[in-house]
Amino acid sequence: MYRNRPDTTPLESSFFKLPDTLLLVFGPDWSLRMISEAWSATLGYPLDELRQRSFLDLLHEDDRDAMVERLATLNSDTPTLRFSTRCRRQDGSYLGVVWNVSYDPDNGLNYASAHETAINLSGNDAQLPDRFIDRLTGLPNRSLFLDRLEHTLRRSERRKDLQFAVLYCGIDRFKVVNHSLGHRMGDLLLMSVADVLRGIIRPTDMAARLAGDEFALLLEDIRDVSATLLVLNRIQEKLVLPFSLDGHEVFTTVSFGIVVSSPAHHSADAMLRDANISMMRAKAQGGGSYVVFNQEMHDLAVRRLELELDLRHALEREEFQAYYQPIVSLADRTLSGFEALVRWRHPTKGLISPTEFIPVAEEIGFIVPLGRWMLREACRQAHEWQQLSTGAAPLTVSVNLSARQLLHPDLIADVAAALADTGLPPTLLKLEITESAMMANAEQAIALLERLREMKIRLLLDDFGTGYSSLSYLHRLPIDTLKVDRSFIMHLHEKQDARHFVETIVHLAHKLGRDVICEGVELEEQAAILTAMGAEYCQGFLYSRPVAANEAEMLILTGLD
Ligand code: C2E
Ligand code: MG
Ligand code: MG
Repeated sequence: MYRNRPDTTPLESSFFKLPDTLLLVFGPDWSLRMISEAWSATLGYPLDELRQRSFLDLLHEDDRDAMVERLATLNSDTPTLRFSTRCRRQDGSYLGVVWNVSYDPDNGLNYASAHETAINLSGNDAQLPDRFIDRLTGLPNRSLFLDRLEHTLRRSERRKDLQFAVLYCGIDRFKVVNHSLGHRMGDLLLMSVADVLRGIIRPTDMAARLAGDEFALLLEDIRDVSATLLVLNRIQEKLVLPFSLDGHEVFTTVSFGIVVSSPAHHSADAMLRDANISMMRAKAQGGGSYVVFNQEMHDLAVRRLELELDLRHALEREEFQAYYQPIVSLADRTLSGFEALVRWRHPTKGLISPTEFIPVAEEIGFIVPLGRWMLREACRQAHEWQQLSTGAAPLTVSVNLSARQLLHPDLIADVAAALADTGLPPTLLKLEITESAMMANAEQAIALLERLREMKIRLLLDDFGTGYSSLSYLHRLPIDTLKVDRSFIMHLHEKQDARHFVETIVHLAHKLGRDVICEGVELEEQAAILTAMGAEYCQGFLYSRPVAANEAEMLILTGLD
């Protein structure tokens, strides 16, 4: 099975001094043509003795066949290979080593550099090396990457001039490839990206597959962040061309998060985490680009994490409060109802805005119990207020539903229970769904909303104008009211295009038999324009900010003025 390659003359003066680096060169007969001094200290044999050995002698005997097989696949199309084996030490113990072998067809020589995995293996443990290699791509895996990074960190503590960088790489929209073209294609894409990364880096750097569609690079001995950007540019250039996968041409882009070593980073875990945060930022910006980590990002991420932890206890600690903002009927400027808006009184951070914590709650699924609580609280309150109300029509209450709540299987049952337990008539409850939540899963949302409507609950499309609902969809949506977003109302009195937009929406809504609420009315001028346009309702600081229940009660009793 050993490959027969033309023999060549041994390298002249091959046994030169290369401290610190585990390098060797071997010929087609496995004889060592060069071996660096570092091997002697690493394995414990005198250098002269090592020079007499063959390459295969250095390996654990159980690893040799696999190594020979892998090396036979080296050719001009696959000029480098990376894999792990165990190496025998003089004292009989074994050392885990990751090899990077390049084949030079002109001389028939193999150039191998190696990195210790820093994990000392017992001689019988045949399974261990594979634990550090990702099976699909052959790249080192997360454990090995962290291990190597930890070493680099320790080394840089001793050598202050040593700068290095971690690049976190995520394939953009990988799930789309996996879903639309199948898992095999997804695997091929991962292997292709792995090849690009492997091909770009220097032998002293490391590319690893962390998990799923996420990779990482460790670039050692860099000058500054600009050196990292050069590497990144080289990767991006390779990715401009499509991959040819099984006859399909697949284009892909990759997002990068970059962390350059600094005294602030003490652990490999923290460095990788911060690189990950930056990569997610880059993805959020649309993909195909990079974000360099900075302290502000770190602080934001820490705050977000703290919010996430505190959120989980905030319900039982009764830290949430429902606030209410009046909804005003434009024709006679009377109170028509309230929108319930959640407030979080954090014990140490003070009042936290829902725009900050609702997205976090949504992401971790906490929005479901929180939303259930709000729904109940708002229904209970609205029912209580019915007794106070002196207006002609009973007061309504609007409750916001998030995307995740909308798709939750218990939604209908939760709504029915809230109404039944509090005694609020369903006709007085309005549910607000944002345009983007609705469109994220339109068909399923429509089916659900139809059921809610059968229960006689009224439905509002919130933040209208900011999402992507096409007009053709609009007439199919089982909603009663369009709620025009504040961003259009804001400029109503000074910009003609804002006025035209709102006017068009009001006409369209009326043509479709829907009514309109305009959010964010702050000026009398805006209210006057909306009244003239024939919009039914408005809501905004002009009348009242969102207020606590007792203040809302005052508004019911005394009226809006
Ligand atoms: P939204 O549902 O569109 O609520 C309207 C937001 O606009 C409220 O912000 C309100 O205080 C603000 N607003 C009303 N009138 C004016 C005005 O004249 N000028 C200005 N500048 N702002 C005005 P808030 O209470 O901070 O809520 C922000 C968003 O958080 C809400 O937008 C909603 O999407 C979400 N949210 C709030 N409470 C809940 C909840 O209980 N459940 C869910 N799922 N989301 C909620
Ligand atoms: Mg709303
Ligand atoms: Mg809104």
